Amino acid sequence: MRILVANDDGIYSPGILALAEVASEFGTVRVVAPDVEQSSMGHAVTASRPLSYRVTKLHGLEAYRVNGTPADCVALGSYHWERVDVVLSGVNLGYNLGNSIWHSGTLAAAKQAALLGIRGVALSAPARGDHDFDALKPWIRRVLEFLLHESKLKLVNVNFPREPHGLVWTRVSVRHYDGRVVPMKDPMGRELYWFTVKPIEETEEGTDRWAVERDWISLTPLRLDLTDETALADARARRPLDESIAARVSPVGPMPEAARSVREDEAPAPISSAIPSIATPSDPSAD
Ligand code: MN
Repeated sequence: MRILVANDDGIYSPGILALAEVASEFGTVRVVAPDVEQSSMGHAVTASRPLSYRVTKLHGLEAYRVNGTPADCVALGSYHWERVDVVLSGVNLGYNLGNSIWHSGTLAAAKQAALLGIRGVALSAPARGDHDFDALKPWIRRVLEFLLHESKLKLVNVNFPREPHGLVWTRVSVRHYDGRVVPMKDPMGRELYWFTVKPIEETEEGTDRWAVERDWISLTPLRLDLTDETALADARARRPLDESIAARVSPVGPMPEAARSVREDEAPAPISSAIPSIATPSDPSAD
């Protein structure tokens, strides 16, 4: 089994080392992770500058550091290593519960795997003061035994409480939060801000947050399709738009010219137009 291990805390995080060490019991491990911390980068990909992929010494593990985001690491890692079976991301220093799905780089690495057709698992735990992951390793082992040997789930978010009782299935907590902004000043007296989040509602039973608040390891199967099926069915029933015309005029069968043009419009700009070309010595005979 080929196991690509990524994270968002950076390649030198104790969490990724613990995960890679346990994962090595299950297959061949390659670590590909950001060279510096990329927490809260979400699913950003680096499109306006080139990336590096450098071999790195990491406790005898095969490892590469990338000067990019967690999603970049999975893209480059699976480009350099064919037929990756699973991407494990973490163990993050800090929970990724509920709304974290939107800004977590840890989760983004697992989601990037799913987008590339590879199984993805995100793993997170409370930041440990002493950075000691040894106590967590038996639980990481148990989660991997189950997810890698018994389950076929494509995308799973795992959160470990500090002292787990065991494993439970959960759904995503969707409670809202206050974006709390804390102002401060820089040494020049200019305004600076910290942004943090504060949950404002009670925890819903059966959710990821509910589970870890009760010392259970939370396993949440996720999917990439964010379509609100209920709202869609309701909208279609209440207020049909131009679907009847669309059904009449849209050709079925091979991809029409319009679809081809949409795909061209979606493609990123060629690198030559994104980055100013390096000036070449002018040809004296040109003017
Ligand atoms: Mn992180």
